[in-house]
Amino acid sequence: MLDRYQKVVFWVGAGLSQASGVCPPPAHNRLSFLHQPEKVWADYQAWKGHLRSCRPNAGHECLAQMQRSHPQVRIVTLNQDGLLQRAGCQVLELHGSVWESCCFQCRLRDCSCAARQRPDVVWSGEELPQENVQRALAWLGECDCLVTVGASGTVPPAGPMPLEARQAYRIEINPAETPLSAHHHECWRGPAEELLGKLFPSGNPADR
Ligand SMILES: [Zn+2]
Repeated sequence: MLDRYQKVVFWVGAGLSQASGVCPPPAHNRLSFLHQPEKVWADYQAWKGHLRSCRPNAGHECLAQMQRSHPQVRIVTLNQDGLLQRAGCQVLELHGSVWESCCFQCRLRDCSCAARQRPDVVWSGEELPQENVQRALAWLGECDCLVTVGASGTVPPAGPMPLEARQAYRIEINPAETPLSAHHHECWRGPAEELLGKLFPSGNPADR
């Protein structure tokens, strides 16, 4: 199926990591960090400990195989857990990564502000990293196939971004209907780790 398309974008949300048993990230924001930075860091350290005990699942592995056999496959992720990367995927992160820290003042990972460090994740109410947003929008604007995987479409501002892939053939993989469902040509209902392997069996070159 992937061979039919020149440019494929997978838009990945939290649903993909569910089968890995990943708990939601700590519910912190800029304000809680200002008031209790130690508590925020401790909670993120605890989440990282939890993530280390989780393994990439068949869905993560399937995407990694697809990317290896089809270099035209691009992956945009809303997840901060790093599981796609651990499976070997190249990804564009829209909500940052719990495995990185950045400057509280300018949000860069390397800078000369001498301000305190914070986890490099996007908190509720914050802007997404603009450079990555621009690249994601460019990918959506030029892809001929979009596969939305485990993304609820409800969390602004990234939620409705898949709608920008107007020219693409659009497939949704999600157990339940989402606000994005009506904008897809096909909706596959079920867990991502099962459906990805069924929909894209050619992900593994050995299977062809
Ligand atoms: Zn800085």
